[in-house]
Amino acid sequence: MNRRDFMGSVVAGMAASQVGNAALSGFPGTTEPRKGASWIKNGLITAGGLHEPYIFVLRRGGESLAARKIHDWNQSETLIRKLKDQGVEVFHTHFYKGFGMAAEMPEMLETKRAAEIAHHYGMRVDTYLQWNTMMYEAFFAEEPRARDWIQRDVSGLPILLTYGYQQSFRYRPCFSNPEYLAYLKKIVRFAVEEVKTDFIHFDNFDLNPEPDSCHSPSCVNGFRNYLKARYTPEKLRQRFGFENVDHINPPQWNRDNPPEKMAIIFDPAIQEWIDFRCQVMADALREMSEYAKSLNPQVAIEINPHGITGGNRAWMSGIDHSRLLTSTDAYVTEEENFAEYFPGDGRLVSKIRSYKLARAYDNVLMTQSPSEVATAEKLAFNQTIGTAGSGEFPSGRLPSYMVDTIAFYRKHRDLFVGTHDLAIVGVLRSYASIAYHNARAQLSAILVEQALIQSRIPFHLIFDEPLPDLSKLKVLILPDSECLSDDQIAKLRSFVENGGGLIATGMAGLYDEWRRLRVEPGLKGLADGQAPASAYEEDVGELKISPGLPVRKLVGKGRVVYFPGIPFDGPLPKMEEYFTIDNRFWKRPANWEELISEIRWAANSEMPVEISGPEFLAANLVGQPDKQREMVHLVNYNASNTPSISAIDVVCHLPEGTTPESVRLLRLEDDSPVDLAFAAQRHGVSFTVPEMKTYAVLVIGW
Ligand SMILES: [Zn+2]
Repeated sequence: MNRRDFMGSVVAGMAASQVGNAALSGFPGTTEPRKGASWIKNGLITAGGLHEPYIFVLRRGGESLAARKIHDWNQSETLIRKLKDQGVEVFHTHFYKGFGMAAEMPEMLETKRAAEIAHHYGMRVDTYLQWNTMMYEAFFAEEPRARDWIQRDVSGLPILLTYGYQQSFRYRPCFSNPEYLAYLKKIVRFAVEEVKTDFIHFDNFDLNPEPDSCHSPSCVNGFRNYLKARYTPEKLRQRFGFENVDHINPPQWNRDNPPEKMAIIFDPAIQEWIDFRCQVMADALREMSEYAKSLNPQVAIEINPHGITGGNRAWMSGIDHSRLLTSTDAYVTEEENFAEYFPGDGRLVSKIRSYKLARAYDNVLMTQSPSEVATAEKLAFNQTIGTAGSGEFPSGRLPSYMVDTIAFYRKHRDLFVGTHDLAIVGVLRSYASIAYHNARAQLSAILVEQALIQSRIPFHLIFDEPLPDLSKLKVLILPDSECLSDDQIAKLRSFVENGGGLIATGMAGLYDEWRRLRVEPGLKGLADGQAPASAYEEDVGELKISPGLPVRKLVGKGRVVYFPGIPFDGPLPKMEEYFTIDNRFWKRPANWEELISEIRWAANSEMPVEISGPEFLAANLVGQPDKQREMVHLVNYNASNTPSISAIDVVCHLPEGTTPESVRLLRLEDDSPVDLAFAAQRHGVSFTVPEMKTYAVLVIGW
């Protein structure tokens, strides 16, 4: 049985917009219209305010003697008014940090007062609500039973949040424990009903990596029950060799074999444990989100699980975004992949992946953007601001580039609201492949995405289990998607038979969803000539990516290209703990030109937009078919070294049967839009952008 069917989760399918050119339709992530907070669909500009209550500032220590004054100012009418004057629409502030409601009540009431002020000014309120901290010293005094609500390691010791050396007073609660969730609901109720919050920010939404996972009775019994509910006795025998799972424990580790050195995850119990941890978080979130929305359907829910960072999020942190973002309106990433191009080694660092993840699930990404380029990236890929930062004490000022960007966004808001990302290329981010072999599957995904980003080919991220409807894609890329189920493979075959293009690389399809080696390659007949792969390995050697020439094949009405490998360009950086593919790897692969050329061949169709320019220019294409226009957003990631880019040629597809009527250029530095000359093409329009600095958007009307 499929995990999603079993858990009754909201399936991450795709609602294809039927408006406009079907091939270019938007690709939002969910099939069912979600009961999200509708006000957020008009864009989000939030700033604070501190998210730490004063009680925490004291307990953490090392505070300024002016801390109380600074703290009061951060919830003052002065600050709230100054933020509003700078265009901020949502006031972010602290609400609950984890000391228990008794200890925090005075400050929770202060937040209620600050919320009244913000509402008085016509702003909305975004409250920080700690998901994952129990400051036991105060909490246990209020609620002695909470000793049984915390996460405990294999030795029974409390599991801590991991902030430096000095926060051992922060226990992690256990999300399998219904009593903790019931307590959390009381805090949520207070936020919604008393504070009248518009937006709940659940912070620290993750779990610790092994060996720090929860062995409390709630989790151990929960894990066994999970296995019994998920599998029939016969399936359990296939999975483990026996059917009685009453004695299975979460994994344990030894000094010679620490979890961070494990390259490939073969052990079925560890695989299931990863899945269980992800599901516990998803279920707890859904319960809390539904509860908050039952009190007020317009409360927006946001979590902080971080985005697509190259880390193995399922294995390390119990995070499978595709199970979480169906319960949220926004999510936070604190990854420090700030927009920048590095001329020395050709890396282009961005949060484009994290933005695409948000867009796939109709979420807003909330993230810091400490530069003009990073802020421009928000306009292009988030289609709104999200987090604008914090007003500086005592002026209340936001950085000037942020104030300018907010003004630009508010002035031209109608160009951003209700847009859909347009692309015909999809990159599969296979859950099982990445969770069980991050070193290879994540690296290949990152490199393929990097080639697309730096070639300005629009693409969607595709998440599996189950695979969504692929019919709106012209090309799907399987970057070393090793672990594919029979059902997924059948869907891929049908996609190709019906005219889809498939790019398979490396070890795609050689294993099933439990990473059992297939006797026949899963993609046999589609991608032939794959090198044989290994089953269980006691010692996994260093990752080697074989280059090799791509092989084209016509199958049914579709086209397939097999790449033996997507090699990193240059010596592969040394893998860090847990095999995270951090931004040292984020550059185009050695064979990016061939890859792009084969993607075009497999598409058997023109790309929705073609844009000339250097490798540090990135683009996003969005549409508003109801307003009869498409927008091309351009971001110069190398603005610090190359402040302007001239003569960018653009050819943009438009829906069939339409005639281009106008092309307008908007730049942050201009007071008003500039009309550009354009030429009608067979399927759209061509024009040249004379010059841009950091950010430009082209509005193409028909
Ligand atoms: Zn637990």
